[in-house]
Amino acid sequence: MRATMISGDGDTDSGLRPKTLDDFIGQPRVREQLHLVLSGAMKRAVTPDHILLSGPPGLGKTSLAMIIATELGTSLRMTSGPALERAGDLAAMLSNLVEGDVLFIDEIHRMARPAEEMLYLAMEDFRVDVVVGKGPGATSIPLDVAPFTLVGATTRSGALTGPLRDRFGFTAHMDFYEPGELEHVLRRSATILGVDLQPSAAREIAGRSRGTPRIANRLLRRVRDYADVRSDGTVTLAVARAALQVYDVDEAGLDRLDRSVLAALVRSFRGGPVGVGTLAVAVGEESGTVEEVCEPFLVRAGMIARTPRGRVATAAGWHHLGLTPPEGLVY
Ligand code: ADP
Repeated sequence: MRATMISGDGDTDSGLRPKTLDDFIGQPRVREQLHLVLSGAMKRAVTPDHILLSGPPGLGKTSLAMIIATELGTSLRMTSGPALERAGDLAAMLSNLVEGDVLFIDEIHRMARPAEEMLYLAMEDFRVDVVVGKGPGATSIPLDVAPFTLVGATTRSGALTGPLRDRFGFTAHMDFYEPGELEHVLRRSATILGVDLQPSAAREIAGRSRGTPRIANRLLRRVRDYADVRSDGTVTLAVARAALQVYDVDEAGLDRLDRSVLAALVRSFRGGPVGVGTLAVAVGEESGTVEEVCEPFLVRAGMIARTPRGRVATAAGWHHLGLTPPEGLVY
């Protein structure tokens, strides 16, 4: 079994990443589906179909890509859509692959068009056409690529072009985690980090983690700081609550940005409807962040709703800000 090669993993909680499919908490459907895809291919001694992992940030897509390589006993090569600006960038990655490698492209929806077109051929025929020279003298040289499995991750599967989406043999739709699953994530991380985390505190942190393991781990580290500095290191319910207040994470898990988005929608636009782009400008944030990070969570929390005319604040959203919704509000 070759070692998994990882590059560019700047995640501060990389030590907390689950290493195997059994280690991966939650997402039972995705785990079962992936297990079948990987086991079927291994049984037939072929490289598995290309796999697309779709879902909001922090739900475990990168971790799953690493797990796929580990389970297959192959190497993982990592890159991202924005890093593949030119077709040549992708050609260089592809030509370095060894048979059976897993190529992970994060944010695959942000890949430049020429690279994407090169990827079609590589995914389908394990071949690329490298164009050498410019203008009428340009020639195209076909190059073979070792059979590989592409694992693409996207926070916006709707932004993927049809031809790219069609070339994946399996799409895993990752959903937000249930509080019980996040408690499990927190217990596991606390053990790895050597944090004394009381069950009631784990429940409290899980409930404020926006259904997202990355946030659960981040809050655990912040709460640990608080416990170490202001208390005796044990994370009790009182310590967790006090720490989360310092970090501006409210009872429903909304952080400062979520609350500004909700407050702008309610106060500046009287509850909407308003477009995401306009909301993003109102809070001074990139529209991608509002659309991919805040909105899915606020929708799931039932505080805003998507309508054909834009986003609207629901009665629960108004109440969360301590305000009375307008009469006749239907959401
Ligand atoms: P994404 O690629 O979807 O943004 P990551 O794979 O980087 O998410 O996950 C973020 C962090 O959350 C990881 O470092 C890992 O510690 C934790 N994590 C994610 N999913 C799980 C899981 N199912 N079980 C345990 N920890 C998880």
